[in-house]
Amino acid sequence: MEFRDLKRQYQALKGKIDPAVAEVMASAGFIGGAKVKALEERLARYVGVKHCVTCGNGTDALALMLMAWGVGPGDAVFVPDFTFFASGEVVPFVGAVPVFYDVCPETFNASAESLEQAIQAVIVEGQYKPKAVVAVDLYGLPADYAAIGAVADKYGLKVLEDAAQGFGGCIGLSRAGSFGDGACTSFFPAKPLGCYGDGGAMFTDDDDTATLLRSLCVHGKGGDKYDNVRIGMNSRLDAIQAAVLDVKLTAFEREELEAVNRAAKWYDEALAELPVITPAVPEDFYSSWAQYTVRLESQEVRDGLQAALKAKGIPTMVYYPKAMHRQTAFAGARQYVPCPNTKGLCGTVLSLPMHPYLDRETVQTVADAVRAYFL
Ligand SMILES: *Cc1c(COP(=O)(O)O)cnc(C)c1O
Repeated sequence: MEFRDLKRQYQALKGKIDPAVAEVMASAGFIGGAKVKALEERLARYVGVKHCVTCGNGTDALALMLMAWGVGPGDAVFVPDFTFFASGEVVPFVGAVPVFYDVCPETFNASAESLEQAIQAVIVEGQYKPKAVVAVDLYGLPADYAAIGAVADKYGLKVLEDAAQGFGGCIGLSRAGSFGDGACTSFFPAKPLGCYGDGGAMFTDDDDTATLLRSLCVHGKGGDKYDNVRIGMNSRLDAIQAAVLDVKLTAFEREELEAVNRAAKWYDEALAELPVITPAVPEDFYSSWAQYTVRLESQEVRDGLQAALKAKGIPTMVYYPKAMHRQTAFAGARQYVPCPNTKGLCGTVLSLPMHPYLDRETVQTVADAVRAYFL
């Protein structure tokens, strides 16, 4: 059993992907060009924002957005304590200080209450200037941007949506990538919309930010590539990845997003009577199911279940075993607010096999193995 079956996806899409990639190779236009531009326009339309700027990966996308906003030394950026390392890594990368806040245990996403406490603690201390908030669409579910936005507005902070796992998710009719002042996604192969290597994109409605992003991702270019007006980086999507993404986005829109939502329902039903907490999707929210993550009653039960599933050839993952503020790389950083929910989640979450090509029998096999563990 595969945790995320990229081989099966390739077999399903091979007839379209192979010629699209071959066409790029024959054209010898490998970086940028018409394919990348067309993809950016398509992505912007899908997400529902004015500008999409592609780049080398999701981590660069986050860093570039912070750079475009002028976030730097002396600034505090608020980041959920329960997320992938990159959400916080980019903050010291641009010279600012990450301040970790807690999440809600039911949605795994940003807690507006904890965020406000963290902002107030930073203001009271007076050492750093609160500048921006990162909210993450963890496991494919958009964060509560109404609540986060209200707190951010109150203190005059920008909101950065980390939609690396969220592409395809919705709140009402609004799609992930359209929330906050700017958003970033990743096309790492295992993400909801993945390419065949590294790739990323930034989304914004703001014309000036988009212009800055286009400069920053090509060595801070001015009028042309050899006129360099600021320090940037070299972070671009290549044309082969754009060709792959063009095919995959069509499949994503036509079938895959619905397929993962169907698979999530099968899991919900099959696990309903068992002592596992299945993931909650709030009213009006729609997930793209980057992960299907359940919670167990204790770390002992979680670790035991994971081992029992592994013995039956069922792969699972713990996203994430360690709170951000406990990462060695952030050692010495001050922790402004307690994050008990993150601590609890790190010990009790377990992500089950999830992808658009999962069939009902496989979901039942996983559920049967979970049931057998509790007998
Ligand atoms: C994957 C991921 C990133 C980074 O994306 P890359 O393309 O791997 O650099 C950032 N944030 C979150 C939440 C992610 O899951």
